Amino acid sequence: MLQTLWTDFLTLVFPESCMACGEPLGKQEHLVCLSCQLAMPQTQFHLQPNENPLAKRFWGKVPLQHAFAYYRFSKHSRIQRLLHQLKYRNQPEIGELLGFWYGQQLARDGFAGQFDMIVPVPLHPAKQRKRGYNQADYIAQGMSRGLNVPALPTALTRLVNTQTQTRKHRFERYENVKGVFATHNANLLRGQRILIVDDVITTGSTLETCAALVLDCGCQSVSVASLATG
Ligand SMILES: [Zn+2]
Repeated sequence: MLQTLWTDFLTLVFPESCMACGEPLGKQEHLVCLSCQLAMPQTQFHLQPNENPLAKRFWGKVPLQHAFAYYRFSKHSRIQRLLHQLKYRNQPEIGELLGFWYGQQLARDGFAGQFDMIVPVPLHPAKQRKRGYNQADYIAQGMSRGLNVPALPTALTRLVNTQTQTRKHRFERYENVKGVFATHNANLLRGQRILIVDDVITTGSTLETCAALVLDCGCQSVSVASLATG
């Protein structure tokens, strides 16, 4: 908490400082310093795209082609501070940058040409107006650049502004998210290999619902990816 406040303070006073640790950035560095980039723990789930702990969370719920996340999330970590800046401190470029890194890594490790379209999880329009942007749009843009696959930010729409769901039973949660998302682009999704992206995957219920919706549209396959997972 103190480290987060301190990093917020440093990045406010010194805009050219690392968003993760607050140290001044070198000339070649942008938003995140190299030592943070190297220190952040990667899951490497993409090396077992169908059998990793995240993919298993979706087993029996929705048939995914692949499920992976870039970083392992933990409290008071660099990645938590970056996601905090991304979502609550008007730093959407962090999403683009990390998405780009991840897209490049996936392309290097054999996922180039495996997706036709990248679709971000939408925010409710009221929430997006308040925040000024959807962080997942930026992640999708970065991954689009890294993987050389088009992003379709308007593919899905969030109809309901869901409140925090963490204390609810899984079944209730599913009922709660049913009818939350819709699409006006079913014709664009049909027959495509879709990669849905979000900032963090916790229970997976949001992505599960989005994936089910995209499958209902007749897409060829659906995969999910996030910048972090717990
Ligand atoms: Zn740093």
